[in-house]
Amino acid sequence: MIPNRSPRAAWQDTLAHAVSDPSDLLARLELPSDLVSGQARNAFPLRVPEPFIARMRKGDPNDPLLTQVLPLAAESDSVAGYSTDPLGEAAARAGKGVVHKYQDRVLLIASSGCAINCRYCFRRHFPYQDNQISGRHWQDALRYIAADKELREVIFSGGDPLVTTDRRLSEMIRDLAEIPHLQRVRIHTRLPIVIPARITPELTEAMTATRLKPVMVLHSNHPQEIDESVGDAIKQLRQQGVTVLNQAVLLRGINDNVATLTRLSESLFEYGVLPYYLFVLDRVAGAAHFDVPDEEAQALVGELQTCLPGYLVPRLAREIAGEPSKTLLTPLRGNRD
Ligand code: SF4
Repeated sequence: MIPNRSPRAAWQDTLAHAVSDPSDLLARLELPSDLVSGQARNAFPLRVPEPFIARMRKGDPNDPLLTQVLPLAAESDSVAGYSTDPLGEAAARAGKGVVHKYQDRVLLIASSGCAINCRYCFRRHFPYQDNQISGRHWQDALRYIAADKELREVIFSGGDPLVTTDRRLSEMIRDLAEIPHLQRVRIHTRLPIVIPARITPELTEAMTATRLKPVMVLHSNHPQEIDESVGDAIKQLRQQGVTVLNQAVLLRGINDNVATLTRLSESLFEYGVLPYYLFVLDRVAGAAHFDVPDEEAQALVGELQTCLPGYLVPRLAREIAGEPSKTLLTPLRGNRD
């Protein structure tokens, strides 16, 4: 007898066919295959889905979307101050898949997979195998959250939590809504940027069907990532009452200039998304070549303030292990070269 399985959604097909062979990616972009470091790729595989590749420029090795995913030899450099756990998440672990850093909110590792492997990812060395939050571990997580009456918000993180099926997300959100002291559920995700078809009616239903206020924080770093398909996905979320914000990472050679950051904020707001945070790089081993020093970042955002209204200027921040909140960096004015 044929098992009664739901048919695979379009986004799941796209996810399953993400490109993992660097030669394939580079051939499509009409670039030489020797741009890739085999060592870097072995340490953290290449993974990039088709809709994101379609927004890359052919023949440009410095394309800002390509350089976020391409394994480079510089990743093998050992740099002082860069570690495998830059945010001290091992110390903040409160159970399998539960990371509790801040008083009123807790983070759940809802998935170990991502649709795209970003080379600067602070969880590129994260021990996902020890943090699978399924079966009885989900019940343990619920008990932990129910026992801490100070918690107001649960954040689904990963990996990318939207790799999880709509049905499972719906079950998890319904379970959380049973905990009286929770008020909000937040999903941090890059999936709607890289596979916009991930925003399905079932997902928006799952996010909005309970009393918990739904928030989605997108992760987009460059205006070239935002096209009409991404805009349509965002519209669906907003129309159903999901608050949509964006956070970006400041990355050397990708978005470390005022013109790009201005266009990013404007492109996001075109679809009603407010820029929330601009993070300086988390010092994760393998990503040092993306770093922009704090003072340069502060000057950039100081200049950004002169180009945009305040509500379109993201807060510049660093996450410091053990601190009770994100650390805001004050923008500087007038001392950029
Ligand atoms: S967790 Fe986010 S930043 Fe890290 S690889 Fe996945 S999508 Fe990229």
